[in-house]
Amino acid sequence: MKIVNSSFLLFFALYLSVTPILGDMDIYPDVSGVTKDAAYWNDIIQAGVNFFNKALTRRWILTSIPITKAGDYQSVCPSKELSTSPAAQSANMYYFFETYTFKNDNGRKPTMETHECLRTTGKGQPYIVYTRISDTLQPPSTSLSASEQVQKREMHIYTMLHEMLHAFGISYKNFQFFWDNSNNRRYQQNEVYISELWNDGAYRRVLILDDVKTWMKDYFGCDELSGLPLEENTGPGAHFDKRFFPWDIMSSPALNGQMRFSELAAVILKASGWYWFNNAYIEPTGFGKNAGCSFFTESPANLASSFPNEYCPTPGDNKIYAGYYGRGYGYCENTKDNLNEIPIIFPVVSSDCWDTTGSSNNPYTTRATYSYAFPTDFTTHKFSCLEYSCLSSNTQVRIEIPYSQGQFVICSAEGWKDVVGGGRVQCPDPESFCENEGKKFCPRNCMGKGTCVSSTRKCSCNAGWTGYDCSQRSDATTIYGGSLYGL
Ligand SMILES: [Zn+2]
Repeated sequence: MKIVNSSFLLFFALYLSVTPILGDMDIYPDVSGVTKDAAYWNDIIQAGVNFFNKALTRRWILTSIPITKAGDYQSVCPSKELSTSPAAQSANMYYFFETYTFKNDNGRKPTMETHECLRTTGKGQPYIVYTRISDTLQPPSTSLSASEQVQKREMHIYTMLHEMLHAFGISYKNFQFFWDNSNNRRYQQNEVYISELWNDGAYRRVLILDDVKTWMKDYFGCDELSGLPLEENTGPGAHFDKRFFPWDIMSSPALNGQMRFSELAAVILKASGWYWFNNAYIEPTGFGKNAGCSFFTESPANLASSFPNEYCPTPGDNKIYAGYYGRGYGYCENTKDNLNEIPIIFPVVSSDCWDTTGSSNNPYTTRATYSYAFPTDFTTHKFSCLEYSCLSSNTQVRIEIPYSQGQFVICSAEGWKDVVGGGRVQCPDPESFCENEGKKFCPRNCMGKGTCVSSTRKCSCNAGWTGYDCSQRSDATTIYGGSLYGL
């Protein structure tokens, strides 16, 4: 039985007395500015809108967008004639999108960028926002394999969700307007960040919002953290430092796929006081979890030896490794955090363990939804895509061995284990694996357009929607990977 204690009830009663009624998100996407590859980007935009309309619940009242005249917002936004259609007026967030030619910025061009244009008076939550999409961004080419097309599209979906997260709250302009249950501002601008000297001799900017600090200490198992280290030392920025969050949706711009919509991103949105977040939309992470304070103080040169699950030893060595989230293999390459070159395994999209198309005559690998790249010694690749299941309350992992009919390995602890018929497979720590990187989940909770079937952890899409994650309209001109991933 679950005990609800009286302080909770008291809190709840107080809470109701001061909190405005909650409401659904109703995002109005204005795509009139998307002029290049419009059909493709409109589809990606709609998928993002579907996601946030379901993942977020509004804690503020805005019964209609007060669009009185174009020009109300032009001091902070590009000139844009806003729609005055009933759908736009009744929405509580007006979100416009445009194709944009970015200028080269220090040798880099953004792929997308996002700004808030107008906030409600006093409370500060943005309700007119926009995202620019670079005219150099290409939809997946039909010359790619079906699986590569799916993964490229998935990367664009994550990029769009990343941009929308900026718009909804995770941005340096927004933190200072976060409010508490009494509708007061929680922080002044100078209470949001500190600049901190780290043991590698450089200053990092650290986000010190209370909920973020609490989450960081709990997740990493370190009581000494001041907050969340960010990628940007100065200037506007709210990206999580890649050294510690390379696969997080809020690290900066999309790595080569296989990102995760993290609990930390949801924690920040909730800390805004503007929304509740439905935790079913959080994807499991595991990178650095319970790694302790040394995860933050270890010198870059020793990362791979101290944290072999997270980092790899020799960038550019051309060796094959199983990728962190196990969707295939990858190569050890450097990514740059705000100070250092950090060696992590970049996944090779064509090695997707989930890709069931094409013939696979390799008896040492099984490609299927939720098949996972385990390190093995029975292939030259040093990993195999193998199906698995978590048993006995996550104290065991059962790994199926395809070349030895009906055989399997039961992992009860981390380490190499012999396989009947020859060879060995490297078992993960069952509890950690089953609750984190090996946890089976419906991708992005079926993007708000499907039901996650609990027995299979696969999406069953609502009428009119398709794809392994229900992110595509059934009547779209191009359906990416309709036959992939067990559908
Ligand atoms: Zn960003």
